[in-house]
This record gives sequence, structure tokens and C-alpha cells, in this order.
Amino acid sequence: TVRTRIAPSPTGDPHVGTAYIALFNQCFARAQGGQFVLRIEDTDQQRSTPESEKAILDSLRWLGLDWQEGPDVGGPHGPYRQSERGDIYKTYCEELVEKGHAFHCYRTAEELEQLREGLREAGRTSLKPSDLALPEDEIEKRRAAGAPFVVRMNVPEEGTCVVGDMLRGTIEIEWAQVDAQILLKSDGMPTYHLANVVDDHLMEITHVLRGEEWINSAPKHKLLYEYFGWEMPELCHLPLLRNPDKTKLSKRKNPTSILYYQRAGFMPEALLNYLGRMGWSMPDEREKFSLEEMLEQFDIQRVSLGGPVFDVEKLSWLNGLWIRELENEQLADRLTDWMLNRENLLKVLPHAQGRMETFGDFAPLVSFLASGQLPITEESFSGNKLPLDDQKKLLQFALWRLEALRAWEKDSIFQAVKALATAMEIKLKDFNAPLFVAISGTTASFSVMEAMVLLGPDLSRARLRQAID
Ligand code: ATP
Ligand code: GLU
Repeated sequence: TVRTRIAPSPTGDPHVGTAYIALFNQCFARAQGGQFVLRIEDTDQQRSTPESEKAILDSLRWLGLDWQEGPDVGGPHGPYRQSERGDIYKTYCEELVEKGHAFHCYRTAEELEQLREGLREAGRTSLKPSDLALPEDEIEKRRAAGAPFVVRMNVPEEGTCVVGDMLRGTIEIEWAQVDAQILLKSDGMPTYHLANVVDDHLMEITHVLRGEEWINSAPKHKLLYEYFGWEMPELCHLPLLRNPDKTKLSKRKNPTSILYYQRAGFMPEALLNYLGRMGWSMPDEREKFSLEEMLEQFDIQRVSLGGPVFDVEKLSWLNGLWIRELENEQLADRLTDWMLNRENLLKVLPHAQGRMETFGDFAPLVSFLASGQLPITEESFSGNKLPLDDQKKLLQFALWRLEALRAWEKDSIFQAVKALATAMEIKLKDFNAPLFVAISGTTASFSVMEAMVLLGPDLSRARLRQAID
């Protein structure tokens, strides 16, 4: 049976690109009666967080995707979190060393720096086992001294690696470009390449559908499958999503977090529908279709390789189609779930109550919380004495600081803004004014820090970005 997987790394916000790749994996497997697996690739312990993992799983579920095996649902090939599979990778890595396909490398950071320098001078691009080799007695000396080491794979010095791709036919990559890749780091953790190959094999994955940014990893993976004597899954590299200007989709130009679309009031069905139209279309070219309908018609060969553009305006248009087809009763439920529920009201009321004379004052006070993008113009900033350019500069600096924040809490937001104001020798009050316009569209509402906490990081950052453009 066909088995596919999505293998997100929990290192940040749930990305629309992850949902897009997951959707195609799910459709490919299910259309053939197969299974779709979710595996968490959290071997980068510095950057992986449980919060990010939860946000990714929740977002994919919110969209309506589902997997038969995964860290949350279990399954016969677990554990499905790479951080819990450390011993497995060590064992397989040892096997490669014993077979002579991998070696312990005791090179120090300084030596590697020098080696790379030498490569650059010689006009070469990759470090080969022969570059890294040390005399036997030197290795013995370092080993005896308990020096740290990594395990690296052997790679050919020259020739061409040919890998098959379901959409691209064959891909050729020169071995000269391929490094003696680290498989096991000095802390004993595997790198992406080792863990990915071992897991795809043990989890019996038959088809790997992933973003085209991984094409250059294919030779290393192919080699690893050969070294282990395993059959390699079929590869399919999907085109990456792009901004309307055709560059790779980036949060600087477009919101990329699924949480943004959730907060801004998009329907999950519409977002999933839109992702299904990224490089793919229904045989009859219809624009609006459900996951079920996509599944019925799914054919991977209909994927076109031209970079699919993720355009928020088109998505909004499609979302409108979905909204207009809901029964009033259904729309009432959706809106209640999205914003008008008691829980949300209770969060907002402490900040609004003191400013209300009648209930009628409530909606205008909090309308910015229930909006996606705001109609901000140059006029909106005219209440502030600083020139517009300076205000935008302030917003840009604030955005950079806020993008780097790990915890989205009133205190940390306040500290970030205050530190910036101090560094720029601007009164916090003058700093807050343009921030306020960007966040709420007006100058009359409640504390800007509170507003940002309530809005959440995705909408807040998106509004700052929008105000700067
Ligand atoms: P950066 O801004 O550092 O390049 P990024 O935008 O690539 O980051 P990541 O956090 O590295 O975002 O990626 C998260 C996930 O989203 C990865 O699995 C990646 O494959 C996927 N992804 C990122 N950008 C795209 C894209 N343009 N198209 C499809 N998938 C993408
Ligand atoms: N963990 C990788 C990612 O974040 C998985 C890549 C793959 O599918 O092989 O995208």
C-alpha cells in the first residue's frame, strides 16, 4: 500500500507551506487507498518547542487534514517524534561505520574553517572524506584524549548522481557538490538526513512528496538507502509557494502562518481549497472545491511545476464564495466560534468596560480585534507630529524586535518596545502613537500593549508589516 508522510520541524509558526505539502501527501495516499503519516522532526533541540509542535498539529487539524499515524494518534511504527528515537539512529549509524560507509571525524572547528578556506581558494564547493582524513596516530591521540567527534558519511569524489522524480523525470547532480555530510552530531543527535532516511524506511514510506528545496538533499539520501541496502521511496519535489512578485513566499511580504488566517477570519475549507489550487487544478478547472472533491479527482501528474503564487487577495475572493454559500444558521455558528463567544468577550471586556457609556460603545472600541487587515492610509498617521517616514522607520524597528520575541506577553512586548524607545531616545508616548495606528487603525482605543496581546503575534505583526508598506 501507498504510504506518505508530512515531517514538520516544530521550530516556528505553522506555515501555510507545510499545510500545502501535507494536503498533497494526504490526497496522494488516500486517492490510492493508502495511509498518511505525521512525523515530528525535532532533532534540532535548540530551535524545537512543544508549543510549536502543538500549533502545527492544531492548525493542520483545523484545516481538516488528518493522519492515520502520528505522535497524537499513535500507530504501529512509533514513536513518531524523532527526539524519542535517538537510540535507533545511533544503532543504524554504527552499522554504517562498521560497513565502512561512514567514519568518525575528529576535526576541530578551527581545522574545518581552514579546510573550507582552502576549498574556496581551490574553487571547490564541498568537503570530501579525503579532505577530512587525519593520520591514524593523530586519530588515536584525539580519541584517547576523549576529543568530541561527529560521524560523517562517505561520498564519491566525482561523477554524477541521478535520481528519479515523479514530476521532473530524472534529476542529475554532480557528486563534486555533495559534502561528506554529518550524520551524527557530537552530542549524539542525528542530522536531518540520517533521521529522515531511517524513519522513512522504518515507517514504510513509499512516496516522499516534499518541497523542491530538498532536491539537493536527494543524492545524500539515495546514497544512504544504498549503503543500508534499502529500497528508496519514490521522490516527488513539489514547487514552492511564491509571493505575487514570484519570489519564494516569505512572511515579510505575505502572512505565512496558518494562525494568521485563522485569526483574520478565513474559513479553513477555503484556505485548504486555495492550497489545493497551488500548482494543481480540477479536471474541469473549477475554482471552488472541497477536500472530498479534490480526493476524488486527485492525480499527482496534474501538478504543474511553474511556481504557484499564494495571493491573499485571491484567497479572500475564494473565501467570500465559501461564506456566501453557508446557510445563515451555519454562518451564525461560525462567527460565534470565531469571535463572538463568551471567552473572547471576557478577555476584551476588562479593557473596554471603563471606556463605555452605553453598550453601543462596545463595537467601535473593539472592532479592530474583529478585523483582518485594516484600511490604513497616510492620513491615519497624520495625528502624530513626527514625519511619516520617521513613523514608518519606528514601526520597522518595532517589527524587527517583535519578530524576535519568543513569548508573546504584555511584559515582554512592553520591554521590547521600551528598550527600542530608549535606544532611539524617543519618549515611549511618541513611540506608541504610530504603533497604535498600525495595530488598531485609530488613535482612540485601549492600551497598545494590551491590544497586541489580545490580537496575538500573527495579526499584530501582519498589521505592522501592512502599515509599513
Ligand atoms: P525562512 O524565512 O527562514 O526561509 P521559511 O519561510 O522557509 O523560513 P520555515 O520555518 O523554514 O519557513 O519553514 C517551515 C515549513 O514551511 C518547512 O517545512 C518548509 O518546507 C515550508 N515552507 C517554507 N516556505 C515554503 C514555500 N515557499 N513553499 C512551500 N513550503 C514552504
Ligand atoms: N523536516 C523537514 C522539513 O521541515 C522535512 C523535509 C522532508 O519532507 O524530507 O520540511
